[in-house]
Amino acid sequence: MVDFENTTIAFHQKNINQLKKAYWLFRMLANPLMVKVGAFFTRIAIKTHLPVSWVLKPTVYNHFCGGENIDACDPVIKKLGEANVQTILDYSAEGKESDADFDYTKEQIIATIDKAKSDQNIPYAVFKPTGVARFALLEKVQVGENLNDQEQHEFDLVKERFHAICSHAAELDVPVMIDSEESWIQSVVDELVEELMLRYNKNKPLVFNTLQMYRHDRLEYLKGFVVRAQEQGVFSAFKLVRGAYMEKERARAAKQGYLSPIHPDKDATDQAFDQAVAFCIDNNKDVAVCVGTHNEQSCRMAVQQITKLGISGNHSHISFAQLLGMSDHISYNLAAAGFNVCKYVPYGPVKTVIPYLIRRAEENTSVAGQTGRELFLLRKELKRRKK
Ligand SMILES: Cc1cc2nc3c(=O)[nH]c(=O)nc-3n(C[C@H](O)[C@H](O)[C@H](O)COP(=O)(O)OP(=O)(O)OC[C@H]3O[C@@H](n4cnc5c(N)ncnc54)[C@H](O)[C@@H]3O)c2cc1C
Repeated sequence: MVDFENTTIAFHQKNINQLKKAYWLFRMLANPLMVKVGAFFTRIAIKTHLPVSWVLKPTVYNHFCGGENIDACDPVIKKLGEANVQTILDYSAEGKESDADFDYTKEQIIATIDKAKSDQNIPYAVFKPTGVARFALLEKVQVGENLNDQEQHEFDLVKERFHAICSHAAELDVPVMIDSEESWIQSVVDELVEELMLRYNKNKPLVFNTLQMYRHDRLEYLKGFVVRAQEQGVFSAFKLVRGAYMEKERARAAKQGYLSPIHPDKDATDQAFDQAVAFCIDNNKDVAVCVGTHNEQSCRMAVQQITKLGISGNHSHISFAQLLGMSDHISYNLAAAGFNVCKYVPYGPVKTVIPYLIRRAEENTSVAGQTGRELFLLRKELKRRKK
């Protein structure tokens, strides 16, 4: 069984100063007031064009991001690769609105596919649907509102971008994961992704959809899709996550008076997540899965299931993923035990990735247990080295 408390393995690539710096950073992130004030001033600084790079770059940016462009991520990719941890380059532009921005992001994603082709430490590419599509447009399509000519053209461009990315990925044989978003745009995304999965997953799992298991309809959706895909002789491929927008989802459902799509409590989400992981592992012949979590218990459960079925840890249909700068104790220990493990490595100019960084900071504050765990393990390793 993998020992996630083995801090010798987890932090073997960090020297004492780097450990101390990470400890200091998580101490800051554990302070909700500090994060609130920091996020507030960063947003103001961006709006008023005040320079913020000098404070963000050496701190949160360097901890959670790979570099300002693809080439700048090379040292991080190489270092992770030395520990058998692979990289998924994630161009982290969020909240864009114009077709020019979306086209630029599409080109970035295509460049990450090219990079993956040329670097064996990069097994997948990834993109976020709202990186290439306007949120409000997807929302309109989902509710079935009539689109005017301009909007219809805009939506056609969105479909073209999804297709361009996936056809390039297919041509270069680089699997691509598509992130999941809020439920009020996710059905449109699912439709677009399903079409691509049915088209490109004939010979191998190439296009991955993402399922947020905090949604109570997702387990059924997963099982239903797998049956449909089997009938059509194509591979299913899913990244499984718990879901990042719980508060927003609940608040919107309460405000608009519909049933919240989110499980009533954490236990129910955990159960659904673990059931989905087990289902995918059990069906590994036809289903590829990326277990995207920082939850040790879920990783342990997945490892047990893989071991029970006698599947090789590095089976090409099963991988684990964590975010850069988080849960190294999971990534490095899984990798050392021979499992396929990746880190999402966000990259982009400091200003572009600020919304991502603010989300990371806020998430680390709200997922109190998570930050506590990081601090506990860093402290443990610092003590061990002192001895
Ligand atoms: C590699 C990777 C890729 C990701 N990609 C995406 C993505 O495409 N889309 C996306 O939305 N998120 C994505 N995430 C974020 C993910 O959805 C989670 O928010 C995050 O990983 C925390 O969940 P966990 O499983 O790591 O850990 P845990 O700490 O065990 O779980 C926390 C999560 O549990 C759920 N939860 C907490 N409290 C409750 C409650 N009271 N009731 C019901 N559920 C509850 C929430 O989803 C919360 O985020 C990704 C995460 C990783 C590691």
